[in-house]
Parts: sequence; C-alpha cells; structure tokens
Amino acid sequence: MVSVDKVEELTGIDFYSELDDVLEEKLEAEINPGKWNFNLTFQSKTYSSSVSSQCKGMTKSTGNRCRNNTTNSNGYCYLHKDQSPDYKKPQSSNYVGRCNATTKKGTRCKRNASAGLKFCWQHK
Ligand SMILES: [Zn+2]
Ligand SMILES: [Zn+2]
Repeated sequence: MVSVDKVEELTGIDFYSELDDVLEEKLEAEINPGKWNFNLTFQSKTYSSSVSSQCKGMTKSTGNRCRNNTTNSNGYCYLHKDQSPDYKKPQSSNYVGRCNATTKKGTRCKRNASAGLKFCWQHK
C-alpha cells in the first residue's frame, strides 16, 4: 500500500491537481489501510502458499547462484531482491514532498522538501 504521492512519482501523473494545494498535499501523503476493505490476513495466506523457487540472485562474496528458496514473485530472495531488474528502492517513511512554506509573494514554494522535512533547504 502506497500514498498517492508514490503513485504520482511512478506514473508522473499529478492527481487531485484541481484541489487546493493544502488539501491535495494532505490527501496525497496519507496512507490509511483502515479505510480500505482489504482482507490482509487472506492476502498473506495466499502469498505464503505460493510456490517457492531458487533465488535468481548471485552472492556477492562468491559470485555463485544464491541457494535460498524464495516465494517472491520476482524470483529473488530477501537478500537479493535488489538484484531484480524491476526492483524499486523502498521509499523511506520520512515525509518527502513539496516544501510547505509560502514564499514572500504569497504563493506556495515549488521546491521539493528536504528528506524527512516539510520544508526545502531555504525554508527550514
Ligand atoms: Zn538470494
Ligand atoms: Zn521552500
């Protein structure tokens, strides 16, 4: 489950662009699993019963094929999932988004906020 911000990052689409920026920012940064009707218990059961296969990764120390079995759909174990061609670095839980400051002109600052902060380098 990801925030709308994450989907925007992946798709390049600006969702809710007609909304007021303050509201837009809030909606896009929110992840609220409790508001969805997903049956998470059922999903994890499905995943654990899927077929396991040998990890396609290479061990860095020996250069040999990894011997771990994995049920990951990309075919890489947890140690080597970053070797998968479609691997995406997990986003840090820190807030990353547009700077929340207002400029002297009264418009919203267009810089990206520094990692973990709500403001850019100039407004922190
Ligand atoms: Zn592996
Ligand atoms: Zn700023």
